[in-house]
Amino acid sequence: MSMADRRLLILDDEAEVGRIIGLIAEGAGFEWRSTTQPDEFFDELDTWQPTHLAIDLMMPEMDGVQVMRQLSERGCKCRVVITSGVGSRVMDAAMRSGVEHGLDVRGVVPKPFSALTLRVLLLDEPDDWPSAPDAQDDSIEAEAGQDFVSQSSSRKKAVLDKQFSLFYQPKLEAGSAALSGFEALVQLTGINRSPDRPGKIIDELDMGDAESGFTASVLNQSIAWLGKNFEHSDVSLSLNISVAQLLSPVFLKELLNSCEKNHVETKRIIIELNETSAMEDPTRSLDALTRFRVKGFQLSLDDFGTGYSSMVQLVRLPFSEIKVDASFVREALTSAESKAIVKSIIELGHSLDLAVTAEGVEDAQSAQLLESLKCDFLQGEYIAAAMTGDEVLNWLAGRD
Ligand code: C2E
Ligand code: MG
Ligand code: MG
Repeated sequence: MSMADRRLLILDDEAEVGRIIGLIAEGAGFEWRSTTQPDEFFDELDTWQPTHLAIDLMMPEMDGVQVMRQLSERGCKCRVVITSGVGSRVMDAAMRSGVEHGLDVRGVVPKPFSALTLRVLLLDEPDDWPSAPDAQDDSIEAEAGQDFVSQSSSRKKAVLDKQFSLFYQPKLEAGSAALSGFEALVQLTGINRSPDRPGKIIDELDMGDAESGFTASVLNQSIAWLGKNFEHSDVSLSLNISVAQLLSPVFLKELLNSCEKNHVETKRIIIELNETSAMEDPTRSLDALTRFRVKGFQLSLDDFGTGYSSMVQLVRLPFSEIKVDASFVREALTSAESKAIVKSIIELGHSLDLAVTAEGVEDAQSAQLLESLKCDFLQGEYIAAAMTGDEVLNWLAGRD
């Protein structure tokens, strides 16, 4: 491609930012045009036929994610550079998603712009551009996996022996502190708890066996508890489910029966699926999730920020809530990067009309910060740790 053939089209809601990007590109031998409007952007795409695109994904008045999606539907062959926000994992995910959808996404340029980074992304050949460094994460995962294998049999026994208990952790509306609902959390009793995540173990135990006494017992117990203690109210119950459960028609039936029996409207039940599992097979998940939504259940994407969900998939999958992972919440006060991640997740959620819940809120400062970032709901030990059903009732009585 000769220099004269390089045409960059920029979409950014801030005209001045668009101009800066344009000037940097000009220095690298590009012709450029910039617009703040998606309509105009797509018109220019057809008529001017740019070779490169620079797209801001985080725009308050419009949805950059949909712009990306539309580009992939049009089979766009331009090189794409994402120019949003911080170098967070959300942006890395956006990049991956674009690539998965056939877009030639070159990378993410954090704001404020580094002229050099932008030039490198616009000009370099595919093999040279920087990718997200995730090798380290993989090794951590591998270690946790080994640990799990060595301990899993005693856990399996604990579950088979029904040595588990149900706890409920309250979730409050940020600001008003009004009770919004509870998350049901299972803890294995008869064994030493270790710091690895029970979710993995539970997934393993379910093994596609949604009729297992375990699953049915969690769901029946917790829904009965809600129906009995929170009659005629909107208080919600969040249930963590595994992909195996999600994909099982028996599970949906069981859930519906339990709601009916306990006079709990389905909209009060929030199905939580963690980010990694939800994205394993997005097409299958989409079908299953849609079935739950059609029945009125709410859907939440748990541990958001820890996996690699693509923003495109997030738009496509019918979630009603995302939960910001505790690890970012915990670090938000001390790490500028974590704070920026939390902020952009909240903005992303709101731009997709999703409620945003922060989990792992451990102190007043974090709660204040989250409130100032317009997070909708808070959950964590600052409010209350997970409690038994009876403890919850005492806790509530103490709040009045
Ligand atoms: P999760 O759904 O993300 O649940 C939130 C976790 O954060 C819980 O860990 C909770 O005890 C913990 N937590 C609550 N407040 C705080 C806080 O202030 N600070 C910190 N650092 N952590 C807090 P827990 O109970 O160990 O559960 C871990 C995971 O196990 C859950 O993560 C969920 O994925 C899975 N899980 C729990 N119950 C079930 C279940 O019934 N079925 C399935 N499939 N998975 C479950
Ligand atoms: Mg959860
Ligand atoms: Mg979580």
